[in-house]
Amino acid sequence: MVAALEQILERAVPLEAEPVSLDAAAGRVLASGARACVDLPPFPSSAMDGFVLRSVDTPGTLPIVFRIAAGRPSPRVLERGEAMEISTGGVVPVGADAVVPLEQAVADAGRVRIEAAVAGAHVRPRGGDLRRGDLVAAAGIRLGAGQLGALAAAGLERVACARRPRAALLSTGTELRPPGAVLGDGEIYDANGVMLAAALASAGAEVERLGPVSDDEGAHREALERGLAADVLVTSGGVSVGSHDLVRRVAGELGVEEVFWGVAVKPGKPLSFGVRDATLVFGLPGNPVSSLVAFELFVRPALAALQGLEDPGPHFRRGRADRPLRRNPHRDELLRARSFERDGEVVLDPVGGQESHMIARAASADTLALVPRGEGELAGGTSVRYLPF
Ligand code: AMP
Ligand code: MG
Repeated sequence: MVAALEQILERAVPLEAEPVSLDAAAGRVLASGARACVDLPPFPSSAMDGFVLRSVDTPGTLPIVFRIAAGRPSPRVLERGEAMEISTGGVVPVGADAVVPLEQAVADAGRVRIEAAVAGAHVRPRGGDLRRGDLVAAAGIRLGAGQLGALAAAGLERVACARRPRAALLSTGTELRPPGAVLGDGEIYDANGVMLAAALASAGAEVERLGPVSDDEGAHREALERGLAADVLVTSGGVSVGSHDLVRRVAGELGVEEVFWGVAVKPGKPLSFGVRDATLVFGLPGNPVSSLVAFELFVRPALAALQGLEDPGPHFRRGRADRPLRRNPHRDELLRARSFERDGEVVLDPVGGQESHMIARAASADTLALVPRGEGELAGGTSVRYLPF
């Protein structure tokens, strides 16, 4: 598993960067560090609605000489013995060093009485969050709401992000029908098409769906050739040893260099990976659960690397097996499991029905629990790694 992932990530070099407006940058990966255009806050501002004054004048009764609303420049220096009313976010005038919240003041007839000496100042200093030129967000992180808010506050209008990978997706199999069609004898629905398109999109790719194609050389050749124009070509089915499994052979004829075929992972064993020029080609197994597992282990990290993500994953966490887990002597096994919390720890409960065609059973799982290859079984309560979906 690790060696296969290394071989993939070696070949998944970040795509070129392009400017992206903040409005369109959610989920994109920063290609270079973004630095603040302004001090933040840009001016000393009030943290409260209240009265701004000099703390040496407290306790005392002071004339209210002005009202400072948010968004308005401060009128002038605040002199000794004066107070101004101020809104949250209003500019603290030169000379003032404290804001007394409304609740702690008694205002009457143009004067304000402050009973106690001021302790907390409630003034947000200019640049207290960030200085102009400071790093707001580092290269290689995926932008979420928090980062985008920070970038906007720091005055950025657009940022440099790696281009989104273009992914072509091809289901193969004569038996496949689109969801909703009437099934003839021997036919099944193309589950992988919808599933992998969703997975690709969630990994940041722009998805082009090809096919499904029947197990026919000509149809394979035409669809694969089109798909090879993308940054990533993902196929499902047709990578096993049957006489109808054509993907690897036809891809080879089209110039795809196979890097490996087969991984010591259950499910997902017949995965193939190759390259043609800069295009990464993943041949996922046809069984839907195998396809899904192979996607999470190998394709999602590749897409993350193409987008320049600092740590492309897969991002395993630690939990505990809810019960004994039998180990496979030859292959690392990923069990579809439900996770829940017990005594402050994540506990993993494998769903019933772990066969690689049982996508409906897998749908009730929220994690993949990793059982490393070996003899015997892992006792219940053993610490295991898991991958959230
Ligand atoms: P294959 O690797 O092509 O031999 O496919 C293995 C198994 O997965 C077969 O039972 C196929 O019918 C099934 N299968 C292949 N592609 C799909 C798909 N797109 N959706 C659902 N099942 C599939
Ligand atoms: Mg097939």
